[in-house]
Amino acid sequence: MPRYDFRCRSCGATFELRRAMAQANDPAVCPQGHADTVKLLSTVAVTGGSAASAQAAPAPSSGGGGGCCGGGCCG
Ligand SMILES: [Zn+2]
Repeated sequence: MPRYDFRCRSCGATFELRRAMAQANDPAVCPQGHADTVKLLSTVAVTGGSAASAQAAPAPSSGGGGGCCGGGCCG
């Protein structure tokens, strides 16, 4: 069963639901109980349909420090 991402416009929370494709466009309720939610674009490609576009900027992965070198174990 495909998974769909939703965002609540009331509290800004994002959540995901697993539902049948036939119910993909059904309204979803935020875990906090808000009904004002929007469906986010997922990796599922949809051919045709509406021309609504949403651009999501890729989140840069911040590399953490630590590791082996620096602790004196690599010498
Ligand atoms: Zn909410």
